[in-house]
Amino acid sequence: MQHLHSKDNLDTYVAWFSETLSDFYAQPRNRQVTQHLDKEELVSRIIQENPPEQGIGFDSMKMLLKDTIMAYGVKTWHPHFFNQMSAGTPAPAVVSSAIASMINSTLSTYEAAPTATIVERNVAQWMAQLLGMPEGSGGIFLPGGSLSNLLALTLARKRKFYDKTQQQSVYAVANAQPAILCSKHSHYSVSNAAMVLGIMPQNIIAVKTNHRGEMDPKDLATQLKNAVKNGLLPFAVVANLGVSVTGGFDPLSEIVAVCKPYDIHIHGDAAFGGGMALTDQRDILFKGIEHVDTVTWDAHKCLYMPLTSSVLLTPHLGALRQCFSSGADYLFREEIEDDPCMARDLGSETLLCGKRFEALPLWMFFNTYGVSAMREMVQSRLELAREFASYLDQVPEFELPFNPVSPLLNFRYLPAHVENASPERQDEYQRWVREKLRVKGQALFNIATLNDRKYLRMILINPLTTMDDLKNIANQIIDAGQELEAKVSSPTLMSSHQSR
Ligand SMILES: *Cc1c(COP(=O)(O)O)cnc(C)c1O
Repeated sequence: MQHLHSKDNLDTYVAWFSETLSDFYAQPRNRQVTQHLDKEELVSRIIQENPPEQGIGFDSMKMLLKDTIMAYGVKTWHPHFFNQMSAGTPAPAVVSSAIASMINSTLSTYEAAPTATIVERNVAQWMAQLLGMPEGSGGIFLPGGSLSNLLALTLARKRKFYDKTQQQSVYAVANAQPAILCSKHSHYSVSNAAMVLGIMPQNIIAVKTNHRGEMDPKDLATQLKNAVKNGLLPFAVVANLGVSVTGGFDPLSEIVAVCKPYDIHIHGDAAFGGGMALTDQRDILFKGIEHVDTVTWDAHKCLYMPLTSSVLLTPHLGALRQCFSSGADYLFREEIEDDPCMARDLGSETLLCGKRFEALPLWMFFNTYGVSAMREMVQSRLELAREFASYLDQVPEFELPFNPVSPLLNFRYLPAHVENASPERQDEYQRWVREKLRVKGQALFNIATLNDRKYLRMILINPLTTMDDLKNIANQIIDAGQELEAKVSSPTLMSSHQSR
């Protein structure tokens, strides 16, 4: 292995890294967002029955990566990629992510990673400040919003049910029925977290939403009251700050007001929507944030950082520490309370032991370009989404259910002759056009179910996407739809088309 550390070897790898970047990444428009190959063919190209006892060597591996893995992989940085809530990442983040791999310290203890610990504490504090959380708030970076949500709800449970000694859990009382309230549009990680915490499925109470999937605070009040009346122990309310399906925002300040009379933890799931705190919408969308107990915010979504870079923020840092320090005394030092807060071991605030330097790309970005560059980028994506929405609203073939609150658009392709067709047939059109553009490599966006109907769903967070790209894609959708119309006389067509 020694030679792998040699200067020559390093030069070879760095040259290859740079080659790969300029080939695939630097000119995204030279390739399509997707390159289609049938599944069977792709599987047969990649699968090897046995782990390769003898390697194929650097040159062959390079070819395999370039011609298969990269070629048929999805180009998330392509300006026509709208499928997921994470899309590409800027070159400085690609490189800083590689540097984090080189550093390879585990951030569980200060001793193991003194500088990285301070950086992570500091960036978390910035994030809390950008949202408008109370002074002294901070948190911890985690591999994904799903884990942040789990830890947030674990903290909520601990705050409600464990006594001061941390020894006795009221929750352990026989027949206790702890419950959480969230909207039916909450991210699925919320119900997974509840399952891990042992909450009965019937005690995950789904609050009604409006047409944009945003929580109805009146229904929250009713459900909360009923829950208590029925002997349940509601301990957390989850507010969606960026609904996964629609990009809408639950009305935070109204939720805070409803929760006030109760001893209940408010969790803001801003995994997607957190980025809107860097836009001119912050004071509207995050009103009430100073009363929120925990927030999940994914920098790998609207802030364009590499997967994964999620932060769990809270004003209750002491409680977070009490929640997860199970006292591995070979690891965590006893004098923890005396540490200045920026130097406290991160490992005692999370379920993780080995912990990657996830905050580095964001720290480097903010230091190099300033938060202002990020604000400009996020604001421009919000404006692009609004502009495309008003464009679609003018084109008769499209239907827009509501204006976007964040850079996420839902719309339907509904040309005149389909307007009176059955809902199922209309849904089929959405799947058809989506699949056509995907297979042709024209654009990759998703399908969402909203109020029982299928919508095209585009996430517009990539800074490379322009209004011209979007107009072209709208035209390609219309073309794909007309192609279907022309073929529709064939009765087998619709049934043979496979949806997702
Ligand atoms: C994406 C998302 C999550 C999950 O985050 P991951 O980083 O993908 O694990 C949770 N909640 C909401 C609202 C999200 O948009």
